[in-house]
Order: sequence, then structure tokens, then C-alpha cells
Amino acid sequence: MTPTTTFAALKLSEPIQRALAEKKYTTPSPIQARAIPHLLEGRDLMGCAQTGTGKTAAFALPILQRLADHPKTPAPYKPRVLVLTPTRELASQIGESFEAYGKNLRLRHTVIFGGVGQNPQTRALRNGVDIVVATPGRLLDLTQQGYIDFDAVEVFVLDEADRMLDMGFAPDVKRIMARLPEKRQSLLFSATMPRPIMEIADRLLRDPVKVEVAPAASTVDRVAQHVCHVDRRDKTRLLAHTLNEHREGLVLVFSRTKHGANKLVKHLGQSGTRAEAIHGNKSQSARERALEQFREGRVRVLVATDIAARGIDVKGISLVINYDIPNEPESYVHRIGRTARAGADGKAIAFCDPEERPWLRDIERLIRIEVPVIPDHPFAIAAPGPERHSSSRPQAREGFRRPSYGSRPAPGGRSRRGRSRSRN
Ligand code: AMP
Repeated sequence: MTPTTTFAALKLSEPIQRALAEKKYTTPSPIQARAIPHLLEGRDLMGCAQTGTGKTAAFALPILQRLADHPKTPAPYKPRVLVLTPTRELASQIGESFEAYGKNLRLRHTVIFGGVGQNPQTRALRNGVDIVVATPGRLLDLTQQGYIDFDAVEVFVLDEADRMLDMGFAPDVKRIMARLPEKRQSLLFSATMPRPIMEIADRLLRDPVKVEVAPAASTVDRVAQHVCHVDRRDKTRLLAHTLNEHREGLVLVFSRTKHGANKLVKHLGQSGTRAEAIHGNKSQSARERALEQFREGRVRVLVATDIAARGIDVKGISLVINYDIPNEPESYVHRIGRTARAGADGKAIAFCDPEERPWLRDIERLIRIEVPVIPDHPFAIAAPGPERHSSSRPQAREGFRRPSYGSRPAPGGRSRRGRSRSRN
């Protein structure tokens, strides 16, 4: 299907278009253009897309439109739409999207996740809501307590299904799916489609339309990426140096562990840079506070672990630093996708110690880019192997100039799916 180019052409109603205009969305993103017409017709959908592609609006807009076209007073505890997403941050952001796009409609939604008191959530459910956006654990909890009933669910969205499984939510998701009414519209979104996702898709979807957009490389293309080879013990100093060289915009730093994230915040504080950490051990309110300070620029540096950073949608992140190289190459793509939001270009720098080099190679295979090396930073150690970038090659330093990306074919050999990776 040829993507349609305006929201009006997608047959979204005037109140929705007005809300979109206010958000300054002029053109539907490819996934929106491809998915919305089918979703408005009531088709099931399998969307292969990651955060950053506009997938939230791709499902939220047709859902709002359908609810508004067939208004009903929502019965207590019986939502008409259920969106399941893996993290609290994603749930909040999806809730905010429904709020923004639906601001001219008379629809009610609520967001449900753990780590906070359940009373406001049960109160909202008792009052009746059209849309529930939830993480699986708390949702099941409330279901078992009788606070939510899926009988009236007309549309079910399983968002970030691969991440959901990575986080161990498969049993919860299956239990929730088992409670859904037979007659419903179902949507599944996932950045990757490994076999367990296909199995869930088979159970969930009926004759789905398949939409695949923005393969990893398209986000990656817009980010000027570099790697610094460095000994582990010098990474903290390299971080201070990099932050000193890069004074514009917000900086998101990724740490593999929660403990590492806390340590970095402390180190940065000692060297005079205010930073905040977000990770799974922080309370919901602490995470929200940190995110808010970062969003407003009161704290320039946010240190995050992968799960906590999932779906962070903050404009103005000009640099992503991979303080640790992720051992899952897909995480790298998700991480650097936090910059280069909504069409903007961004920068990413990875700090790679000798032990992390195999992970860097995995990443380069996935993104089909040889990440250019910054050879002359103060803590540089030799880059590996002659087939990799030699330091005689001209490289950007301060400006972190955009590299000219040579794509290279993914080498054969090990199958990526077949590999086992340790998780943290
Ligand atoms: P998502 O992939 O849903 O996380 O969306 C990524 C970002 O793109 C969010 O900041 C959205 O607000 C923004 N966005 C989504 N659709 C559009 C659009 N059609 N035009 C401009 N920005 C958009």
C-alpha cells in the first residue's frame, strides 16, 4: 500500500487532527500511514517497529477514533481498550499520548503499574474508563482482586512484545490473553520477531495485517556514532573528559548495572557535574523526578540502565554515551535511538574496553556499520586488528563529525538467534 501523506487523508476526525496540529505533527510517520487505515477497518495488526517510529500514535489514533465513533459510557471496572506495555515509563508515556491526542474527545483513560499505591488506580477503574494502559504485573494483581474485568475489551494492544518476554512477563501476558473476550481487535508490536513472539502472535491475532517499518538501521543512520577504546579503569575519567568537550544539550549515559549507574552519578557529582540515575531500584516517584529534572534541563546528565531507559522520550538529548557496551546488540540500537528523536540528528559515543570488543563486533554486524574510532582521546588504547579502523585514518574528535557510513554485509557464521547471551 502506498503510504498516505496527511492525517486528513487517513480519515481521522477533526478533533483528533486538531490535537495533532497542536502537537505540530504535520505528516504521518510511515507506520502511521500504513497501519491506521487497516486499524480503522478493525483489522488485527502485527507491527514490527521500535520506539521512535511513531508507533504509539499508530495505534492510539485509530483507537481513539473508533471509541469516539461508537461512544458508550464505560461501565465500572470494564475498560473497552487494554494496552499492555512492559515498563512504567512506557505506560506513562502511552497514557500521555492518549491524553494529548484525545484532548478534544470525551474519553477517559488510566495508567496502571506497580511500585505505587493501587488506590488511585482502583478508584479510576471504579469510575469507569475507556482505555487502560498497564504493565502486566499490577494489572494481573488488580484482576485477581476483582478490580478489572476484560469482558468489555474491544481492542487489545500488546506493545513491545519482545521486551515483555525479555523481562520475563511471558506467563503474565499469556494469563491476561486467556481472559480476553473472543471477539476483539488485537494488535501486537515488537521490534524483533523471534519464534516466541511469533507463537504469541499466532494465538493472539486473526488474519493480521503485517506492517514492518524502520529497520534498526534507519534510526542508526541519523546518529553520528563513535567508539573510544579505553581501559575499564579509565572510563570514569574519559566520561568527565567527554562531558567537558561536549557542552551542548542533554546527555544520556548508559550503564549496564544499577550499582554502576549510582557510582557514576556519585563520581560525576564529585567532579562538579550534576547527574541523576534512573534504574529499577529507584522508586517510581524518584524516577519520575529525575526524568522531569532532566527533561527540563535542570540536570544535564542522566545515567540509566536499559530497562529504565526503555522508551524514554525526551527531546534535546544531543549525546548518548554507552559507558558500558551492551551485550545485546539490539540494546545498542535502542540506546542510541534516544538521541536523534523526531527527525533530529544526534551523537553517540561508546566506551569500549578490551573485554567488550566482541560485543562491539556484534553491534557492528547488526547495524552493518563499522563504528568509527576516536583515536586520540587522552585515555586511548590501541584499536583492535588491522581490518578495523587504523589511527592513521582521519577521525573526528571534538566535533564528533558525522562519519560517512560504509555499509558492509553481515558476515556469515554464527546465527544471531542461536546465540545465548547473559542478561543483567
Ligand atoms: P513513538 O515511536 O511512539 O515512541 O514516537 C516517537 C516520537 O515521535 C514521539 O516523541 C512522538 O511524539 C513523535 N511523533 C509520533 N508521530 C509523529 C508525527 N506524525 N509527526 C511528528 N512527531 C511524531
